[in-house]
Amino acid sequence: MATTDDLDFDAMNARYAEERAKRLRDDAVDQFIEVKTEVADLDRDHYADPDFSRDPIVEETDALIVGGGFAGLLAGARLRERGVDNFRIVEKGAGFGGTWYWNRYPGVSCDIESYIYLPMLEELGVMPAEKYSKGTDIRAHCNRIASTYDLHRTALFQTTVEELRWNEDRQRWIVTTSRGDEIAARFVISCTGVLSNPKLPKIPGIASYKGHSFHTSRWDYGYTGGDPDNWGPMPGLKDKKVAIIGTGATSVQAIPLTAESARHLYVFQRTPTSIDARGNKPTDPEWVKSLKPGWARERRDNFTFFTAGIGTGEDMINDGWTDIVKHISAPPGTDPSQVDPIEIMKGGMRKMERTRQRVDAIVKDKATAEALKPYYYYFCKRPGFHDEFLEVFNRDNVTLVDTKGRGVEAITEKGVVANGVEYEVDCIIYATGFDWFNDYTHENGMEFYGRGGQPLSKHWEDGPRTLYGMQTHGFPNLMFMRQAQSGSSYNYTHTADEQTKHIAYIVAESIKRGYSAVEPTAEAEEAWVNEIVTNAGMRKGFMDVCTPSYYNFEGKYTIKAARNEFYVGGPKAYNGLLEDWQKEGSMKGLEVTKG
Ligand code: NDP
Repeated sequence: MATTDDLDFDAMNARYAEERAKRLRDDAVDQFIEVKTEVADLDRDHYADPDFSRDPIVEETDALIVGGGFAGLLAGARLRERGVDNFRIVEKGAGFGGTWYWNRYPGVSCDIESYIYLPMLEELGVMPAEKYSKGTDIRAHCNRIASTYDLHRTALFQTTVEELRWNEDRQRWIVTTSRGDEIAARFVISCTGVLSNPKLPKIPGIASYKGHSFHTSRWDYGYTGGDPDNWGPMPGLKDKKVAIIGTGATSVQAIPLTAESARHLYVFQRTPTSIDARGNKPTDPEWVKSLKPGWARERRDNFTFFTAGIGTGEDMINDGWTDIVKHISAPPGTDPSQVDPIEIMKGGMRKMERTRQRVDAIVKDKATAEALKPYYYYFCKRPGFHDEFLEVFNRDNVTLVDTKGRGVEAITEKGVVANGVEYEVDCIIYATGFDWFNDYTHENGMEFYGRGGQPLSKHWEDGPRTLYGMQTHGFPNLMFMRQAQSGSSYNYTHTADEQTKHIAYIVAESIKRGYSAVEPTAEAEEAWVNEIVTNAGMRKGFMDVCTPSYYNFEGKYTIKAARNEFYVGGPKAYNGLLEDWQKEGSMKGLEVTKG
């Protein structure tokens, strides 16, 4: 492989700026729509019984959890551990899993190491079969958590929450659902996910297409054939010309198996993803035998803290993520005042150059290889990791349609238009992603009405306002599981686990101490929001030179975006802060109502 010694950093900065400029659009995040608004059928749940019905439930509970993904499951588990047993989980899908319920496309896997991504491994005494688990195994793990903590009987599946209204007299949230339920809940824990709402680009003509289409998170095996739990040929695609729009992390995983089945696959690319090796392998039984009690926490902490640039510098994970971080960090122990940002930038550029060299080494056609090379700073977009993706472009039945940052221009009755050419296809697969830190209200159109009937959308009209990312003033007994305003980790389940422990503590202690309502004081909330915006001030400089992506709100980094930032102290300080807060015991920063 060529070296990166002669990389011209000035020329590269100029190239990155040029590529960014090609992709900036005035409509930024408004270039997308929800799948259900444009073509209702694209939001269909292929795994649920469409004829399912049940009688409405009217009841009172200690807690209501909205969402049955990892966050909701962990919330339920931690409530049980603290002796709070009277709760419900309301979930739109027909089963647990959240992301892993909906995303069953061929190739779906985690690309955060499964030993740290799957929560409660040590507690449940299980070990994933591979370094990067398949989606079906992750969903099985979700159900394992649910069974261990007896959560299935709490679940209201195929149900969406519509309205949550705080009733001052009853000191309860009155929650109504799509199935006519009315649940009076003492606490509400909102676990609706960070990337859960599928979106489509507003491409002209999208509703006029007469062929078959679906979003990757609603993969239609009824059309493609094949088995979501046991990937193999998809006979329904054998005689089909297929278009896949988008080349983000999902598409990178879905393309290799789709290419094997389709008569022809057209890949419509707007921006290439950086693809580093993933290096999946079976779990080594000898390594498992060597593990000491506490290993799971130690390993998870190691990844979170290492990738946040904190810690001893020991890298227990040694994968694509940590390799990138090694290239863009100062050596451990470096005095922060001595860190040279120019050197950090150069390290990232050298690493990205190696990623581009990897494309040349794998993809035979020179023009295709050139088009697949990413030109932006690491972490402007989510990095990708795959061992078979680039090889796909050496197949005769795969065509890369690179739109050079412009994207697909139109959809017609017959197919997809890009670069002025119409590609007639039998099927369009939208791999166009999800809302990031979506306005929670989009999620099934649900709205929270707090004290005095104030809608949360009003309180948050300039972006979220929270204490520790989890509670907001004027909305008593309401808890959020979100990454915004928390101490984020690239490993979301780590953040979720820390937050659910905190939430379960507040719920259980409030019940024990006879508090009917707890909420952050306006001052505590203001102070925390200021901490977050301080971080945003530092991040803005980077985000403003980044190519558009959901990370930087498609190139418009506004105050709303800033309020979606993370705690400046990082995940270690954040986790410590929550632990200390609980130990201190006075519920500092919260105002409580007794009775
Ligand atoms: P992304 O938002 O990452 O990708 C959407 C893709 O659609 C991009 O390539 C985007 O191009 C493209 N696109 C949007 N509009 C157009 C258009 N008009 N014409 C052509 N292309 C268009 O969504 P993904 O579903 O791929 O991934 C979302 C996230 O889900 C990931 O970032 C990751 O966090 C998570 N994920 C995690 C996995 C895991 O293993 N843990 C696996 C898969 C996903 P452009 O880049 O130019 O915007």
